[in-house]
Amino acid sequence: MQLLDGKKVAEKILQEVQNDIATMEVKPGLAVILIGDDPASQVYVNRKHKTCQKVGMYSEVIRKNANVTQEEVLVLIEDLNQRKDIHGILVQLPLPKHLDEEVILRAVDENKDVDGFHLINTGKLFRGQDALTPCTPTGVIRLLKEYDINMQGANAVVIGRSNIVGKPMAHLLLGQNATVTICHSKTKDIEKFCQKADIVVAAVGIAQLVKASWIKPGACIVDVGINRLNDGKLVGDVDFEDCKTKAGYLTPVPGGVGPLTIAVLLQNTVKACKKIT
Ligand code: NAP
Repeated sequence: MQLLDGKKVAEKILQEVQNDIATMEVKPGLAVILIGDDPASQVYVNRKHKTCQKVGMYSEVIRKNANVTQEEVLVLIEDLNQRKDIHGILVQLPLPKHLDEEVILRAVDENKDVDGFHLINTGKLFRGQDALTPCTPTGVIRLLKEYDINMQGANAVVIGRSNIVGKPMAHLLLGQNATVTICHSKTKDIEKFCQKADIVVAAVGIAQLVKASWIKPGACIVDVGINRLNDGKLVGDVDFEDCKTKAGYLTPVPGGVGPLTIAVLLQNTVKACKKIT
């Protein structure tokens, strides 16, 4: 089994970002809006900020109290939409319940939508047009390319249909000419679909759901899941120990898909900056 080293590929992407920034006349700028005090979100936002600093990208974190009004958030986004030094805007999810996620994500200028969650970018992805695409699934495609995993004509199964991972993942695989099946919580006999798959991407949020008996010998298994067990250990949606002797390629958790997400976010910010300026 070949381990798919997402950390190494993420470092390569960040090096490309750094090289790009060095040659750009306008320095790309990323603004992250963090609302409330969700501990996981704080960790993610700090990590994004530090990575920006490392590669020489301007980064600004705007923190708002959990009781901020929707109107205030919309005014803030409009201000960022207008700013010339900001080329990427990210609203850290999840949002407090009183805020309408759909309205807020739609308020972000689609050209600065570096998370790829705006309806216009979602529509462009659906139609196979060039777009800012969601970071995690975009990172998965890059990882597969780096390891020369054949996607054209491959049977690919995506487990999970969230707007953040599963659905864009399926469309990106389709864009690579894979034959894609999407499985979800109502799918009957998921293992039967997986057993026929050359590529399985698990984005569910259930620890160690995918077992060796589910997969085809030699298949490429990508684990997007991040789950914390009672003993504090981080595991994915794939039972790594069970699958490691049967899979042909497998991502570890941590160190697999996770590091790619931030790297692609910065890559999207460079892309947005080049397009806007
Ligand atoms: P989500 O919004 O909760 O979506 C989970 C999906 O899994 C849903 O579509 C759900 O189906 C499906 N599902 C639930 N139980 C299932 C089952 N028993 N069998 C098959 N499918 C089932 O989660 P998400 O945001 O996509 O994230 C998925 C996982 O990836 C989480 O562990 C998350 O922490 C991780 N993640 C990692 C990164 C990263 O950077 N590595 C980024 C984002 C997310 P229904 O639609 O039918 O409910």
